[in-house]
Amino acid sequence: MTPKIAVRGLTKHYGSGARRTLALQHVDLDIAAGEFVTLVGASGCGKSTLLRTICGLEEYVAGRIVCNGSDVDGPGPDRAMVFQSYSLYPWLTVTGNIRFCRRLAHHAAATSSEVEIASGRADALIGLMGLSHVAHAYPAELSGGMQQRVAIARALMARPDVLLMDEPFGALDAQTREVMHDLIRHVHHLERTTIVFVTHDVEEAIYLGERVVVMAPRPGRIDSIVDVPFGEKRHQDLKSSPEFSHLKRQILNRIRETSGVKTDLEQLDKLTRTAQD
Ligand code: ADP
Repeated sequence: MTPKIAVRGLTKHYGSGARRTLALQHVDLDIAAGEFVTLVGASGCGKSTLLRTICGLEEYVAGRIVCNGSDVDGPGPDRAMVFQSYSLYPWLTVTGNIRFCRRLAHHAAATSSEVEIASGRADALIGLMGLSHVAHAYPAELSGGMQQRVAIARALMARPDVLLMDEPFGALDAQTREVMHDLIRHVHHLERTTIVFVTHDVEEAIYLGERVVVMAPRPGRIDSIVDVPFGEKRHQDLKSSPEFSHLKRQILNRIRETSGVKTDLEQLDKLTRTAQD
C-alpha cells in the first residue's frame, strides 16, 4: 500500500563551514494513512527537524518527502502542525480561534454553505475537545491544557490528512498530560487522522504510538522502529504493566546507548577515580 508519508534518504544540515550541523542524515521512513507514530530520542537527535521538514517548514539538501503522492516543497493544508506553545489568537474567543480558517479568511467570496459547514465542524470539534463550557472565553482565561485543546481543535478544523505535533504537552502538568493523552487517542480513533508526534518522554511515546521511531544524535538519524503491541484500547493502568515497563526500559537503554550518555558517565567515573588516585 502507498504510504501517506514517505521520507527517502532525507539529509538536512544547518549552518555552514565549521558551524555546520548535520541535523538529519539519510532518514528513511514510511508512515501509513491513519497511523499514529511517535518520534523519540535524546535532545538534538533531529526529531523536531524531521517533523518540521515533513510540514514543509524546512528546506533539505538531499532526499525526498512525499505526502499524499506529492512532493513536499512547502507547507500545505493537508498537513497541520501543533506546537508546544499554544499560539492562539488572544483577541478571538475559543470559538473564534477554532473557526478561524485561513481559507475563509482570505477568500471573502466563501459561499454561505461553506461558512455553514465550517461552523458545524467547529461546533463538533468544540464538543469533541470538551470545550463547550468555555466556547466564548478568551485564551487568557483558560488553563494550559484548555488552550492546547483549542490549538488541536483549530489544527483539525480544515480536516488535515496529517497532524504533526511537536511536544504539544511538554508544558502541561502530569495529570493534565494524562487527560490529554486519552483525549488525543480518542480524537485519533474518531478522525483517523495520520499523526506524527514528537516527544522526549518515552512513556508518552509508547502510550500514544502504534509505532515508536527511536532517533539517535550526531548525526540525527533513525536508530530503530519499535512496534507497540498494546492494540487500540489503552488505559492509564497499562503504564504500570510489566510489558509496558519492559518496552520502556528497552527504548530508554537504546536512547542511552546511542546518545553517548553512558560513555560520558563512564569517562567521568574514570576521571574521578584517576583524580582520587
Ligand atoms: P530535537 O528535536 O531532537 O531536540 P532538533 O531537530 O531541534 O533536535 O535539532 C537537531 C540538531 O540541529 C541539533 O544539533 C540542533 O542544535 C540543530 N538545530 C536545530 N535547529 C537549528 C537551527 N535553526 N539552526 C542551527 N542548528 C539547529
